[in-house]
Amino acid sequence: MKDITDQYNKDLLVAGPERALEYFNTLFPGQCIFSTSLGAEDQVLTEIIASSFPSIRIFTLDTGRLFQETYELIRITEQKYNKKIEVFFPDYNSVENMVNSKGINLFYDSVENRKECCNIRKIEPLSRSLKGMKVWITGQRREQSLVRSGVQMVNFDKVRKIIKLNPLINWKEEDIWSVIRTKKIPYNSLHDKRFPSIGCLPCTRAIMPGEDSRAGRWWWENQSGKECGLHNNEK
Ligand code: SF4
Repeated sequence: MKDITDQYNKDLLVAGPERALEYFNTLFPGQCIFSTSLGAEDQVLTEIIASSFPSIRIFTLDTGRLFQETYELIRITEQKYNKKIEVFFPDYNSVENMVNSKGINLFYDSVENRKECCNIRKIEPLSRSLKGMKVWITGQRREQSLVRSGVQMVNFDKVRKIIKLNPLINWKEEDIWSVIRTKKIPYNSLHDKRFPSIGCLPCTRAIMPGEDSRAGRWWWENQSGKECGLHNNEK
């Protein structure tokens, strides 16, 4: 698969997001899907997809622990673009078992518990949402964190066996905000309160000046390069 992704990356060496989306939407019509967390990058991609690639489905994962601001943004975004954002939920039996055996805020007790919660509330629903698809589109950018600094525009997720397309991988933060302002794209109001990366409410805090943009995620853990497992299976 590495040879094929190398070729895709070569073909898209100087491509912007529109060209990259067109390339894969032509190769795999009806089999490209975009996962949004409603963050700033994802809102830019939603604008592009809703305007130029209406056949591409958009979905989000509702962990049950999101910020009210995020739920409100789902509503506003659907209205603005007249485009459904499909919502995938965790398996309720798994959530009940986990919470009743380990507590409602189990993630603060250990890294193991936190990973179990992310696994049940995010990873399993993600795998379900990608079933039957060939291309998973995400809003990852290289400069977001050290972990993401080596990510290419096109990768292969070896666990989920799916091509992963990151059309904004080369964009800088200022590029994102310039487009949001110019096109009046709706965004999460938490971004104005020093939340560059927004996940679940109990696991996300505002960052301090100079901190890594993902430093507010699982802030109580000491390990660096924290990810929930959605984005670390590339090759
Ligand atoms: S980010 Fe926190 S609340 Fe959300 S799924 Fe992961 S551990 Fe659970």
